Amino acid sequence: MTTVLPSPELGALLVDNAQLIGGEWVPAKSGETIDVINPATREVVARIPRGDTVDVDAAVRAASAAFPAWRDTSPTERGALVLRWAQLIREHDAELDSLESQEVGRPSWGPPPMARILTFIAGQADKVQGLSLPVGSPDVLGLTLREPYGVVGSVIPWNAPGPMFANDVGAAIAAGNTIVIKPAEDAPLTPLALARLAVEAGIPPGVVNVVTGYGHEAGAAIPAHPGIRRMSFTGSPETGSLVMAACAKNLTPLHLELGGKSPQVIFGDADLGAAIPAIATGITLNTGQICAAGSRVVVDRSVHAEVVRRLAEHLGQVRVGAWHEKVQMGPLINEKQHDRVLGYVKAGREEGAELVVGGGVPDGERFERGFFVQATLFDRVDPGMRIAREEIFGPVLSVIPVDGEDEALEVANGTDYGLVASVWTRDVGRAVRMSKRLQAGQVAVNAALGAGLVGAPFGGYKRSGFGRTMGADAVLDYTQVKAVSLRGTN
Ligand code: NAD
Repeated sequence: MTTVLPSPELGALLVDNAQLIGGEWVPAKSGETIDVINPATREVVARIPRGDTVDVDAAVRAASAAFPAWRDTSPTERGALVLRWAQLIREHDAELDSLESQEVGRPSWGPPPMARILTFIAGQADKVQGLSLPVGSPDVLGLTLREPYGVVGSVIPWNAPGPMFANDVGAAIAAGNTIVIKPAEDAPLTPLALARLAVEAGIPPGVVNVVTGYGHEAGAAIPAHPGIRRMSFTGSPETGSLVMAACAKNLTPLHLELGGKSPQVIFGDADLGAAIPAIATGITLNTGQICAAGSRVVVDRSVHAEVVRRLAEHLGQVRVGAWHEKVQMGPLINEKQHDRVLGYVKAGREEGAELVVGGGVPDGERFERGFFVQATLFDRVDPGMRIAREEIFGPVLSVIPVDGEDEALEVANGTDYGLVASVWTRDVGRAVRMSKRLQAGQVAVNAALGAGLVGAPFGGYKRSGFGRTMGADAVLDYTQVKAVSLRGTN
């Protein structure tokens, strides 16, 4: 490992310049590598293989060879192995949290959720059940079987690499599939460390295969591979569309978890003491690089001025710095994101929104090398402006004043996205109406980023994608249905 990994224990979790194919830690066939950098300093943290089509093909072959035995392993045993994996992860929670913090660039956000995710999934492994079907003859039995697809593919982004990896890999293998997964080139280390622990847990070689590399190379090769029987993609809508096109070519079913432009709808009777800090945290956590981040405040005019004043107070005090400092917000992930976020701030100003807080790079030498931006608040944003319609994926909050419930709903639903939505009100009738009418895969009342539900299905309406993860059907969704009719003979 090259330079500044946060603790010596991590050396034991990572193999330099290696990806996991068929149970072996191997470099890319081409020998090429990619540097992973610390976004706060641009220092190289590690080197990973620059896998491509050839490596993906080797991984699909390994996964294919491992599939029959894994499919035929009892679901109880599969669940037990996933649970063992969860236990090992829990034992390494602190190191995994440091690792993810460093590669993503965020201050710690508490105990990582991977062990909890996998414990939840492990419990579903032996609860995949079929049906008995009504039959038209006394000699016939009718059944449905739930069977794994075979080799499944997954491509995940960099913003929460540990949880994304656990969600996709856990559910896929608990159902009896084998998997080829590509983490993002900016944050592949936590996934690689998790894969190391999967091997240590005794999950057989070839069941979990991790190919690292760039999106247009290793990433594009996964949905294009004819050996992939089901695909899962989490990332931007633009890339999702490319992945879907590749899947269309092979008629591969897929699940898409894409972007968001989530509204925080505040009515005049809202508890602002609860709403304001939650909304401020929701847009600064992970430097706003969360698909579910509430980036639009749709506020009733009766409390508009007070909401802006209190949001400005909170966002103006956000401490920015490197992941290991006592700060609330780290840098953005890379230069592209940095240019993108500053570009949107410029667009907001040019389109006539009122810049209230932030809008640039924090002052000081220590911010010069990393990809830092200030928490930013725009007021008097028109729903037609780009900052109100397009996903920025940064700590930029847009306030849109409205009059009453109907206009609030129209503005809240007025983007191409539909991932999550929040409503802040004390009126139960209004909360019920809004919960039903908001076009989003998740609605939270009086909470931002959800209210801590366990097993809530997660996924999008409209262009935020389709399919759901994290719910009670997470493992079931990695199976296909077969109807069997069985006629008895004399
Ligand atoms: P991205 O689409 O650029 O990259 C995501 C992944 O796709 C990376 O691993 C990348 O290497 C790979 N990729 C890039 N080009 C590819 C190609 N042609 N074929 C196959 N794979 C390719 O997205 P990003 O910038 O890394 O992530 C940010 C986006 O992800 C945001 O839009 C965010 O909202 C979304 N996201 C959604 C969820 C969700 O659950 N809905 C969760 C996290 C992030």
